[in-house]
Amino acid sequence: MLAPQPLVDSTLVHAAANAGWSSASELPQRSEVVAGQLVIHADFPLAGQHRLVRELDVLRTEVSQRLGLPISDEPVHLYLFESQDRYDRFASRYFPGFPVRRAFFVETDTRLAVFAPWQDRIAEDLRHETTHGYLHAVVPSVPLWLDEGIAEYFELPRSEQGRHDAHLAHLAGRLVEGTCRIDLERLESLHSAGDLSQDEYAESWCWVHWLLNTTPERKRILQDYLTDLRRDAQTAPLSARLAHLEGGVVNYNAGLRAHLENLAPR
Ligand SMILES: [Zn+2]
Repeated sequence: MLAPQPLVDSTLVHAAANAGWSSASELPQRSEVVAGQLVIHADFPLAGQHRLVRELDVLRTEVSQRLGLPISDEPVHLYLFESQDRYDRFASRYFPGFPVRRAFFVETDTRLAVFAPWQDRIAEDLRHETTHGYLHAVVPSVPLWLDEGIAEYFELPRSEQGRHDAHLAHLAGRLVEGTCRIDLERLESLHSAGDLSQDEYAESWCWVHWLLNTTPERKRILQDYLTDLRRDAQTAPLSARLAHLEGGVVNYNAGLRAHLENLAPR
């Protein structure tokens, strides 16, 4: 069993947040670093050459190339709080009632923004949240499950090539228990961040891993889907597209389960 841990994040899209947050005096503003599309505001000095800053900048190209999407110049603002306390107070004041998470991403009509406290897992959290930012800058309406699956995929250090050991261990445990629920239509029916537990984050990651890391056809299906979503948020869902893959003879939920069984935890 994995120890319970706070979920990585929440993605808040056009939600009824306290509108005053963007001019709040509590926002980190001691230093500001611009790196490509990112504008990083921090409570502490942060050099532009910081390894993490460079890594987040490189992530922009990686996300766009793997997903077959253009890059955008729309700024993604990262607000980095020096302490958990400051972050918690800011989040509860300006985003009340929002699920408590280690970090979160917000999309409003005028701004893409990430909020995070500086802590041990900051690199993973910022890769995750910044991926949401890069993605939303070009595809504003991404289904919740896919948004999270993509962010979970890209939150890993590059050397892992998308292999998420924590999610794999979780799903492998579910397989052993006989409680593993692989069901793409069910994921597609979820519309609230509060509906996502580690089961859903892990399954969403696994779908993205299967789509990006197995066959060119599957990768193409994901890329075409994202391209279509840019033009039409109501475009046919991924499950409908997969149903036609390989002549319609493949049960994609069973395909994902087989993929999962092959990816035995190290
Ligand atoms: Zn997320």
